[in-house]
Amino acid sequence: MAAKKAAEGEKQEEGKYKHTVDLPKTTFGLRANAVVREPEIQKMWEDNQVFQRVVDGNTGGNFVLHDGPPYANGNLHMGHALNKILKDIINRYKLLQNYKVRFVPGWDCHGLPIELKVLQSMDQDARKELTPLKLREKAAKFAKETVNIQMKSFKRYGIWADWNNPYLTLSPEYEAAQIEVFGQMTMKGYIYRGRKPVHWSPSSRTALAEAELEYPEGHVSTSIYAIFKIISAPPASYGLFEEFLSDLCLAIWTTTPWTIPANAAVAVNPKLLYVVAEVHSILKDTALSKEKQANLSRALKAGQTKAFVVVASELVSTLESKWGVKLMVKKTFHGSALENFRYLHPVSGKECPVVLGGDYITTQSGTGLVHTAPGHGQEDYATGLKYGLPILSPVDDEGKFTEEAGQFSGLDVLGSGNAAVVKYLDEQLSLILEEPYKHKYPYDWRTKKPTIFRATEQWFASVDGFRQTAMDAINEVNWIPAQAVNRIIAMTSSRSDWCISRQRTWGVPIPVFYHVHSKEPLITEETIAHIKAIVSNKGSDAWWYMSTEELLPHKYRDKASEYQKGTDTMDVWFDSGSSWAAVLGKRDGLSFPADLYLEGTDQHRGWFQSSLLTSIASTGKAPYSCVITHGFVLDEKGLKMSKSLGNIVDPEIVISGGKNIKNEPAYGADVLRLWVSSVDYAGDVMIGPQILRQMSDMYRKLRGTLRFLLSNLHDWKIENAVSYSELPKLDKYALFQLENIADAIRDSYENYQFYKIFQIIQRFAIVDLSNFYFDVAKDRLYVGGTSSYTRRSCQTILAAHLLSIVRVIAPILPHLAEDVWQNLPFGYVKEDGSVAKFVFELKWPGVNEKWLAMPADDVDFWRIILELRSEVNKVLENARTGKLIGSSLEAKVYLHASDGATATRLQEMCTAINDADALHRILITSQVEILSSLDNELVTSIPYSGRYTDKRTGEIWIGATRAGGMKCERCWNYSPQVGSFVEHPTLCARCFSVIDVQPLPAAAGVS
Ligand SMILES: [Zn+2]
Repeated sequence: MAAKKAAEGEKQEEGKYKHTVDLPKTTFGLRANAVVREPEIQKMWEDNQVFQRVVDGNTGGNFVLHDGPPYANGNLHMGHALNKILKDIINRYKLLQNYKVRFVPGWDCHGLPIELKVLQSMDQDARKELTPLKLREKAAKFAKETVNIQMKSFKRYGIWADWNNPYLTLSPEYEAAQIEVFGQMTMKGYIYRGRKPVHWSPSSRTALAEAELEYPEGHVSTSIYAIFKIISAPPASYGLFEEFLSDLCLAIWTTTPWTIPANAAVAVNPKLLYVVAEVHSILKDTALSKEKQANLSRALKAGQTKAFVVVASELVSTLESKWGVKLMVKKTFHGSALENFRYLHPVSGKECPVVLGGDYITTQSGTGLVHTAPGHGQEDYATGLKYGLPILSPVDDEGKFTEEAGQFSGLDVLGSGNAAVVKYLDEQLSLILEEPYKHKYPYDWRTKKPTIFRATEQWFASVDGFRQTAMDAINEVNWIPAQAVNRIIAMTSSRSDWCISRQRTWGVPIPVFYHVHSKEPLITEETIAHIKAIVSNKGSDAWWYMSTEELLPHKYRDKASEYQKGTDTMDVWFDSGSSWAAVLGKRDGLSFPADLYLEGTDQHRGWFQSSLLTSIASTGKAPYSCVITHGFVLDEKGLKMSKSLGNIVDPEIVISGGKNIKNEPAYGADVLRLWVSSVDYAGDVMIGPQILRQMSDMYRKLRGTLRFLLSNLHDWKIENAVSYSELPKLDKYALFQLENIADAIRDSYENYQFYKIFQIIQRFAIVDLSNFYFDVAKDRLYVGGTSSYTRRSCQTILAAHLLSIVRVIAPILPHLAEDVWQNLPFGYVKEDGSVAKFVFELKWPGVNEKWLAMPADDVDFWRIILELRSEVNKVLENARTGKLIGSSLEAKVYLHASDGATATRLQEMCTAINDADALHRILITSQVEILSSLDNELVTSIPYSGRYTDKRTGEIWIGATRAGGMKCERCWNYSPQVGSFVEHPTLCARCFSVIDVQPLPAAAGVS
């Protein structure tokens, strides 16, 4: 038809009736032009304070999504974008749901990485001049600058938040709240000082938390098998071992030979079986080198005629082949029989005991006997406590042996020190075998260097003290996805006491004083309250520039000279883990616990956990009622993004384009947001050029759908609406569909399953609508007559779709929705009588029960019509291929239903009282005829045919011929009536009545 062609941008034909055709018209651009338009829209929101005004105007309850603070270091990556956009989608949905949405963005500002950045930016001389206060000043400046850069990026993503009042962990009020949490935990007895092995990073010279470790692939340790000479057995076991005692050794295995000087015991598993084995001649076919064989020979025989070793029974054959010896089992017994044997320490020569360890002693590797150094291992420490073993740790901050380590003093335990210990054991005839061992080993996640376990004086939070309360609280929280609860349970139940002190400068001080002589810590309710008040006024710098006297409360002033202030700072996880107290507990309009926390799945051991622990310890409650986790962002092949692979997708470039615009087009924030909505974030998600192109394509099509709606409503006014009861059946069915879609979308928002929304929108708003309703509607809209019933009822449906779609997509695509709204051709009046100037002034569309109430039988009939229509289209396509017709309007369709009731209903549609429901309009053909029988000469002459079968209707036969009559000049439909109107000989009856301004009978009384 002429109008259709014109609308599709083809050359408009000059014609007598051109001015009577209602062509689509709109100011809404076909192209997004996001680089220009999105910032304009964002500025408009900001200038008009839209977010704040909508929040103030909403009358529902508060909705508090508490922001997990990104680290104020470096630029944002795709993980940040995924995280903040997910949050924004939820917040914006809640806004439409009438909630007062309070979203305070946060930043984690303290800690080693920033401290290191500052240090690296200075030369050697400048570093020497650096005082703690100068370093802190520079670190604060760096953090604040980074916050500003990151904030700008977040704003560009279209994130709505209280950007003027973010929370920064370096702000005095935040630090004061954190000290308050520390104080509460101290007063409840959960904070203690102890000497305990902690993960220690020699490269950063500080203790590290679990969350600060990583376990890179490919770490290889030097592992050794060694023997310790037994010197006595307890009376109870003496008889059992008497014959071997003079030549008996314990065989141990370790991957950290440097911990041998700190050895305090050998532990066995009481439940495992062990053996005494006689070591026999070296096998000739061993793969070991001659040198190694000599080692073995020397160590195992040690000049004796016979040598016996104790090893786990299950490992005998493994060790035989590894050591290249024959082990003759002489006696088998349980590990418990070995308790209180004594052996000679291979370095110090002191007597040490055999002790019973726990289930951590297995036969998976080693010998089944565990070298125990309580100063260098978690399990060793626990076993040591049980037996009162000394906690030796002759290693300093830099990872070098101290004087306590005797001849090894000054050597690097991870380097020359380790080698020296191995060499020494060899000289002492204690070494059986040295071999490289590949395993998971903890590295400092910042310096990428290996860590060690080392006992130091540290401050701890005793997780044992409140573990059960935490476990109970976990079960009250709604974890999404549901299986995430297992992760947090596993991590919380197994977590050891939390080492919260760090030997760094850029952080919140542990507010404690030490007695100058006794070194006893001083920490009371008064000291904490006093320090908290100072920090709240002056910030934590005060800890460094104020004197001990000033920092002590009045009561202790005269004793100030007996005390010195501590120099430890708090673990940054304690900083961010206190955010519930500093933000939720302190700010107007916020509430504790938060409705929602939403972060990456790695935060089960990070922020989710540190927040839970501090909150449980001080309030007994979890800080959140719901926790959502998302996976990591990978490239489109599922690989981790890295510089070396060159597969990094930078959100900044996705939005604004890269250097090569052809390869890296500027997609805008909404395409990025559409991608966020499309992924099932419960697992890892993928992004890359191909995926982005698909997103952009979908965005473009959705924009086209919205443009169709806007452009066909250019002359629309709300008062033109046709009431529901007067609508054609086709339109009622369209509203039924729309309402179901809106309902499904609301459900998916409520369940935070945005990818389902993406799928629904893709199917409904892009495919279904264009393929059917819009396709059929064009005739009514363009040539139905400007103010005719058929056009106005169609516009009523289009307006309903526009108002619904623009709202349901707004949380995901706020810029697109706002762009639509700003180009809305009619005013939309809100409940309060004012016109909605911005899309978020609207509420979520209410449920239209009436629209949903379509009888099931009618719904099913429309399903059949739609299915029949696609079969008809196939037949028409064949007719087109066979050159019988060009456009479908040149066709006449014949139908025959074997089922009588179906035939009747189809017949009714052919003589529908309104033009919109007429079957030929729905099939977009000029004519449709229902045949009562196929036993008809006509049928044999029909060149193209097909069939549609459904269990309800049975078979419907379809045939197509050329339409009868001539083509109407105005609407391009064929009709025998063309030529019968004297004044308008080129028009069909419908067009004649439109032109003649004679309303069609069906429209009477409606418009
Ligand atoms: Zn016509």
